[in-house]
Amino acid sequence: MRKKIVAGNWKMNCDLPQTQSLITDLKTGLVKEFNCELMIAPSFPFLYPAFNSTLETPIEVVAQNCCEADKGAFTGEVSIDMLQSVGVKTVIIGHSERREIYGESDELLNSKTRAALDKGMRVIFCCGEMLEERKAGKHVTTVADQIKNGLNDVSAEQMEHVVIAYEPVWAIGTGETATPEQAQDMHAEIRKQLEELFNNDVANNTSILYGGSVKPGNAQEIFSQPDVDGGLVGGASLDAQSFIEIANAF
Ligand code: PGA
Repeated sequence: MRKKIVAGNWKMNCDLPQTQSLITDLKTGLVKEFNCELMIAPSFPFLYPAFNSTLETPIEVVAQNCCEADKGAFTGEVSIDMLQSVGVKTVIIGHSERREIYGESDELLNSKTRAALDKGMRVIFCCGEMLEERKAGKHVTTVADQIKNGLNDVSAEQMEHVVIAYEPVWAIGTGETATPEQAQDMHAEIRKQLEELFNNDVANNTSILYGGSVKPGNAQEIFSQPDVDGGLVGGASLDAQSFIEIANAF
């Protein structure tokens, strides 16, 4: 059975008091059991306080990024060991903002993914096409290349610890969502590719999340698609009530 996951990507939006108050609001709102795993991704300095204040809750605190190197002279970077030392077990790798703004290449993202998996982390590996690529009908090959390159040298066994997040770049933070059919089509393509790259079990058992303007109003329709196993939520995850409503969409 594939895991259903709703993950909040807080990006660079919350300072310490905001992080704390958003977690307090989430905890207050978590009055029932959810049919999915819940994750939040605060900024690096707040991972440890967030980890501590969610200890007795179903919320997992995850990182937005990590360094591929082990340790040493990498000014400004945060290693996987450091993340693990503050209780983090999952890391988002390859978000389109990392790819676009910080120029993270498929090769670098592959190094990060392999380093994180080798250390026993779970990876949420992001992929997604730009608007021009979709308009040119290249969205399937773009995403296929990102996955093939990003998961190069990852074993079928390690894929148990990989979650894929499909996030069409044109739908991120724009209010424009992929239609449920567009999401389903791409998720099915990704599953087909996982079968080619690995095997049928990996294709069937890997959770694939959709991301890009997921909101309480559209979550149910998107999550009801057969190959959509949850969402990576940006803007709407900054409001506790909206995030909980999205998690309730399962
Ligand atoms: P959004 O962001 O929900 O604000 O579109 C999604 C993401 O970037 O993960």
